[in-house]
Amino acid sequence: MASPRILILGAPGAGKGTQSANITDHFDIEHITTGDALRANKEMDISHLGLEYDTPGEYMNAGELVPDEVVNEIVDEALSQADGFVLDGYPRNLKQASELESMTELDLALMLDVSEDELVHRLTGRRLDPETGDIYHVEYNPPEDDDVEARLVQRDDDTEETVKERLRVYRENTEPVIEHYEEADLLERVDGEKTPDQVWDDVRETIESAT
Ligand code: AMP
Repeated sequence: MASPRILILGAPGAGKGTQSANITDHFDIEHITTGDALRANKEMDISHLGLEYDTPGEYMNAGELVPDEVVNEIVDEALSQADGFVLDGYPRNLKQASELESMTELDLALMLDVSEDELVHRLTGRRLDPETGDIYHVEYNPPEDDDVEARLVQRDDDTEETVKERLRVYRENTEPVIEHYEEADLLERVDGEKTPDQVWDDVRETIESAT
């Protein structure tokens, strides 16, 4: 089988990060994630573009999308170095979707379906270990070690106010993207409310039958 080229879609908190990690391990392909790439470049100077803010981090902390010209370049660069990949966090709107079509062809657009209430609950309870990068949840997955628990932090954009804004922005921009892939006959939906292992079984089977 050639290396699969997969797009993973779903709202913030739907489990894209977890399932992308499973996919990249199992199929030995790259994980390209715009959220992580932008977090690593939060302070990048984009003042020459003459836009609302001068750094990606300011858009992110407001729950808004970072401008297309910044994100397109990050994705183009990453795709040019990958054979197979899981693309995560991009495209977030129809303009990005058509930009992506000029960069590569996809085998599959995989959509993780999770209800709005569950998304808010997952995101506002999410905590990060700044030393290891591991992700926990105050209720679903608390750390066993007290030292780890004491140093956990919340991502700047996982506060309730920003989460609600991110979900609103997601619905407004990304729902047309989902319809776009449905019409292109590339979309497969997986129930993202099952346990992570059950979701992974469904994800793996869906990829295997689509590639
Ligand atoms: P995420 O980790 O995917 O939820 O992304 C965190 C933040 O990064 C988003 O709220 C946006 O501000 C920004 N971001 C990530 N991917 C994109 C994208 N494709 N287009 C614009 N902004 C993005």
